[in-house]
Amino acid sequence: MGADLEKVLITEEEIQTRLGELAQEIWDHYGGEPFLLVGILKGAVLVMADLMRAIPGSVPMDWMAVSSYGSGTKSSGVVRIIKDLDADITGRHVLIVEDIIDSGLTLSWIRANLESRGPKSVEICTLLRKPDAAKVTIDCRWVGFEIPNDFVVGYGLDFAESYRNLRVIGTLAPHVYS
Ligand code: IMP
Ligand code: MG
Repeated sequence: MGADLEKVLITEEEIQTRLGELAQEIWDHYGGEPFLLVGILKGAVLVMADLMRAIPGSVPMDWMAVSSYGSGTKSSGVVRIIKDLDADITGRHVLIVEDIIDSGLTLSWIRANLESRGPKSVEICTLLRKPDAAKVTIDCRWVGFEIPNDFVVGYGLDFAESYRNLRVIGTLAPHVYS
């Protein structure tokens, strides 16, 4: 599987170190007030697992799955909920956990949707952010790594549902696409 990578962008150790920093910042930010982690399936599964274990206190999680209609690898911002939250978030602090923000269209929609349910606050933590994210104003409080505008896989991120279980994040070798 690793042989299909052209280049490792972020190592396992770098991911874990950064998630540890983010977990502490998040914990300090909420200052003892309860908050709910909301992961976006499927890409955020691994970020959620490691981020929540690095948080120095008990914190609940919930999940949403959405499909964004778009052509090829670009999303359109038109979103359909496949699996909604189990929890009622009225009056609660919500922290969305994402793997990557590319155009930011999907996450803008999710954020607006959650905000319409009357939460106390909605913040976003994403492991990766690409430069295109600057085009939409999406206020993301915690970003793990800013990465170049290349297609990356691993650590939850897939190419046609493959490579999600890689421990590193990297770019695919050209022979994989062809
Ligand atoms: P956005 O709406 O353009 O921000 O799309 C975000 C979603 O597209 C992410 O949650 C990923 O599922 C997918 N995505 C964007 N860039 C990549 C990438 O480089 N590799 C794998 N999936 C990606
Ligand atoms: Mg995703």
